[in-house]
Amino acid sequence: MSSEQNLTESAVPAAYRTPDALPEQGETPTSPEGGGRQRSSFDKQGERRKLDYPPAPEPLPVPVMDNHTHLDMADGNVSVSVTDALDAAEAVGICGAVQVGCDLASSRFTVNVLDDEPRLLGAVALHPNEAPLLAARGELEDALAEIEQMASHPRVRAIGETGLDFFRTEPEGLERQEYSFRRHIDIAHRLGLALQIHDRDAHDDVVRVLGEENLPEKVVFHCFSGGPELARICNENGWYMSFAGTSTFKNAGAIREAMLIADPALMLVETDAPFLTPHPFRGKPNASYMVPFTVRAMAGTLGSDLGELCSTLRTNTEAVYGRW
Ligand SMILES: [Zn+2]
Repeated sequence: MSSEQNLTESAVPAAYRTPDALPEQGETPTSPEGGGRQRSSFDKQGERRKLDYPPAPEPLPVPVMDNHTHLDMADGNVSVSVTDALDAAEAVGICGAVQVGCDLASSRFTVNVLDDEPRLLGAVALHPNEAPLLAARGELEDALAEIEQMASHPRVRAIGETGLDFFRTEPEGLERQEYSFRRHIDIAHRLGLALQIHDRDAHDDVVRVLGEENLPEKVVFHCFSGGPELARICNENGWYMSFAGTSTFKNAGAIREAMLIADPALMLVETDAPFLTPHPFRGKPNASYMVPFTVRAMAGTLGSDLGELCSTLRTNTEAVYGRW
C-alpha cells in the first residue's frame, strides 16, 4: 500500500484519533505527563494548523528506533500518554526512542520517564535558543550543573539537543549560544555520552566549534539539514547524520543529495516529533509511529532494500546510544 492509498480515519492509531467533541477553537489538551509544553496550534504565517494525526503506515519489516523525539511536548487534538505513544510506534516496527530534553523542565521529565519505560533512552540539554535566555538571567551555570547531574542517569545516553541556531537567536545571543554549546560538548566528552547537535542555518560554525573542542566518540547531527558538502565532512569525521521528515519534503533535494553521499554506517532516523511530519502529512502533528514514512522515503532515495536499510539503521542507532 502506498502512503497515499486508504488513508482512512480508522487507520489512525486509536490513542491518536480525534474525539467526536473537539476542544474549543484555539485550545488543545496538554499532555498529562509532559513538562507542560504545548506546540502552537498556528503556523508561522498565523494560520491554524491541521491538528488531526495522520494514519499509521505499514509496519517496517525490521524494527528501528526513533533517535530523537519530544514526548513531553503536547500537540494535536488529543492528549496521548507516553505508553500509548510507544505502543502505537511499536505496532509499526518502531521498537524504541530517544526522549530529548531542551530545557530543565523537559530534561527532568526525560530522566523521570526513563525509570518507567524500558523502550526509552534519554538525552538532556539546554537548547541553543534556551541557553541565551538563561544566561541573560544569570542562571546558565546552575542550569548546566543540573544538566550534568541528570546526565549521570544510566539510561541518559546523549547530551542534546545542543548546538547553534542562527535562525531564531538575536545577534547578541550568539556568543552565549556558542559558549553553551562548548560547555555541552565538554560534558558529553567527560561523561562519555553521545552528542546530539541542533544545527539550524549554522553548518560552518557548528563544524568550526567541533574542530576546536575535545569531542565524545559519537557525534550526531540531529535533523540533518546540510547538503553534500556537510555530508562529506561528516563522513570524514565519522559524525552521524540523523534524517527526519524534512528529508521527504519536496524542496529538500539537497538533503537527499547528502543522503546519497552519506556513509550508510553513519545514518540514523528520527521524527523530532511533534515537529517535521513527513510528506504527505507535512504540517500535521508528528509522532514516533510515523518513522516508517521517512524510512520508506529513504529507501526510495537510496535505492535500498527496505529490510536491509532498517537493519543498518538499527545497528547504527545501537552503536551510538548502546542497547535499549
Ligand atoms: Zn528536537
